[in-house]
Amino acid sequence: MKEEYADIIVNISHESVDRAFQYRIPEKFKEVIHVGTCVQVPFGRGNKLLKGYVINKSDICNYDTTKIKEIYAIVEDGVSMEDRQIGIAAWIHKYYGGTMIQALRTVLPVKKTVKAKEYKKVLLTCDREEAIAVLGDSKRMKGRGARVRLLEELLKEPELPYELLTNKLMVSGAVIQGLARAGIVRVEKSKVYRNPVKKYKNLDEKKKLTRSQETIVEEILKDYDDEKPQTYLLHGITGSGKTEVYIRLIEEVVSRGKQAIVLIPEIALTYQTLMRFYKHFGERVSVLNSTLSDGEKYDQCERAKHGEIDVIIGPRSALFTPFPNLGLIVMDEEHEGSYKSEGTPKYHARETAEELAQRVGASLVLGSATPSLEAYYRVEKGKYKLFSLTERVAGGTLAKVYIADLREELKQGNRTIFSRKLQELLLDRLKKGQQSMFFINRRGLAGFVSCRSCGHVVKCPHCDVSLSEHRGDRMVCHYCGYEIQKMNTCPECGSKYISGFRAGTQQIEEKLREMYPGIRVLRMDADTTKSKDSYEEILEAFRNGEADVLVGTQMIVKGHDFPNVTLVGVLAADMSLSVGDYRAAERTFQLLTQAAGRAGRGDTLGEVVIQTYQPEHYAIIHAANQDYKGFYEEEILYRDLMQYPPVANMLGVQIFASNEVEGIRVAKKLADQAKGLAERLREERGWSLKEQMQIIGPAPAGIGKIKDIYRFVFYIKHVDIEVLVQQKDFLEEVVKGMEHRGMNIQFDFNPVNGL
Ligand code: ADP
Ligand code: ZN
Ligand code: ZN
Repeated sequence: MKEEYADIIVNISHESVDRAFQYRIPEKFKEVIHVGTCVQVPFGRGNKLLKGYVINKSDICNYDTTKIKEIYAIVEDGVSMEDRQIGIAAWIHKYYGGTMIQALRTVLPVKKTVKAKEYKKVLLTCDREEAIAVLGDSKRMKGRGARVRLLEELLKEPELPYELLTNKLMVSGAVIQGLARAGIVRVEKSKVYRNPVKKYKNLDEKKKLTRSQETIVEEILKDYDDEKPQTYLLHGITGSGKTEVYIRLIEEVVSRGKQAIVLIPEIALTYQTLMRFYKHFGERVSVLNSTLSDGEKYDQCERAKHGEIDVIIGPRSALFTPFPNLGLIVMDEEHEGSYKSEGTPKYHARETAEELAQRVGASLVLGSATPSLEAYYRVEKGKYKLFSLTERVAGGTLAKVYIADLREELKQGNRTIFSRKLQELLLDRLKKGQQSMFFINRRGLAGFVSCRSCGHVVKCPHCDVSLSEHRGDRMVCHYCGYEIQKMNTCPECGSKYISGFRAGTQQIEEKLREMYPGIRVLRMDADTTKSKDSYEEILEAFRNGEADVLVGTQMIVKGHDFPNVTLVGVLAADMSLSVGDYRAAERTFQLLTQAAGRAGRGDTLGEVVIQTYQPEHYAIIHAANQDYKGFYEEEILYRDLMQYPPVANMLGVQIFASNEVEGIRVAKKLADQAKGLAERLREERGWSLKEQMQIIGPAPAGIGKIKDIYRFVFYIKHVDIEVLVQQKDFLEEVVKGMEHRGMNIQFDFNPVNGL
């Protein structure tokens, strides 16, 4: 390819991001012009010289070759903020695919003229005594949990942002209005954004860091001041003081005239956490979340750009906040799947944050109780520096964990879905009036088949992931397409108890009512939480002690604190182990560790029962022992053996087609082309068979069809990410020259969220 032409975006005013112009690349610039390069081009009739950015190169001219204009010059002076954003967009474009326009849209806020939004705050209007009296009354009444929370907070802070109360404290508008009518509170509106917590800045008493916290802060700052910032992994259980470390680091970085980005998955962004940041940074902190409109997001970016804020907190997309002097990026719960974008470009915020931090000379601090294999692998490779916080600051013991072997239960004649241990402990809690949580993990579950007698799970001989039930009587591997007839007896033990696991949250609820007459049960799953309010209502009712047991899917495990819960039951830990993808064990370990952390936050001993058909599985054993390192060491061996990330890299090519036959045809054709390139590269570079790129599939995706769109996928594995980028570029070209009407083809590097 000669690549004589370049698509250029001129004049980055954000509205025009969807229009590029083509120019010829003069011979002298051929070697130095890349995607992202800033150039000067003659524009319009007067050929006025404008600054623009190269977003694509090609050897095809879409224009009259005799009339096309030439790039005039390369702009080499200092890097402006726009250049930085364009640069990171170009990087995302290169490493995750999609179009440059899509990458730009990811990185740049869309400028939209919206009517000025009203900011609301809630104030206490009566005197404290009266408020305390109302609070007392409300506490004695049932179903007044939201009112209690609101009054408690307003007694601490006489005025609070409305959004904070409704989003994070789950106080509905109706509750606020009720109190307003009673003359207890008032809602005030203003046109300009003003964070009312400003006055209370630094109201949070400055805690003296523990010795280990202090060491971490000192070391990170020393690297920063020596101009050697890098990536750090802060490994510590919940409550071990990570957030306190982040806050102290941010204070130091801000005092040096820099800004900080704090990424927290939306589900973990609780009211308590937000208040801690508000109290430290007052109106210099801002929060991004999914409820903001494009216009509001744009406003936030403008405020950041103009130095009106120092700290932004938000999910994945907060990473692209255009701070002029970014000094620190914090990524809490770095192992969370939500850090990977599900839309194109499918970028991972951790990798992107690393690239961004490197470009601007910022430190990157990753925090987790259960680090991703990726992060820990990089620690082992010497790329990240590891810090550990091993104890809870407030003391308290870890929950006691029991493993219940469901095969044994069946042998002993227990046919219920509750093991004897769980029944015993539940009875004890019912007597004591303490609460329990039972959860079942069904995420991404596509009908795996297991033996209830011996726990055997049928796996693909080529991919070492479990097979899934497909169209009734077949079992299929969603990586390579391997397929066999579904069996009636277990190939391991011959028992006839082989089938898909069917127990759901509803059965659990019914069973509980049947076995424990009078038990108060709340259920939380996709069915009971269709509306946003119901989700909040259920949590509130449970927090207020209106139920003995909360039954739910994994959504109950994350981000909520219930001090009266002293028993957690994981009803079928295997379910997540058997999801047909290579991250199943990692996800199971994380969930079980989190579930264990739910019990026993207070002074009382918490207990956890993990029910499983595979009690010998390393993910279960290490989670029960809360032994991350032990888990990591076994898991990384598997990844290495199978050449799965993070040891090797993996590119998923996804084909979405309305016509099934056409979808398969295109998937096969692309896979063949990929094999062709793999073979050519092997010859060219003299790779051995082991070093060769592996191409697996195509196969139907985990969910083979959604809304009448068929989904196929194939995977390419190789150690070197650059080789996979080359494959992606090559396949993109193939797609361009191919008939693929009614089809959508996407690329996913190192997939996190199974398709
Ligand atoms: P994590 O982020 O790891 O869950 P936090 O930073 O939230 O941990 O700390 C847990 C609890 O301990 C919080 O209530 C916090 O205010 C408190 N805490 C943290 N560090 C200290 C300290 N050095 N001194 C006193 N209390 C602390
Ligand atoms: Zn069996
Ligand atoms: Zn397979």
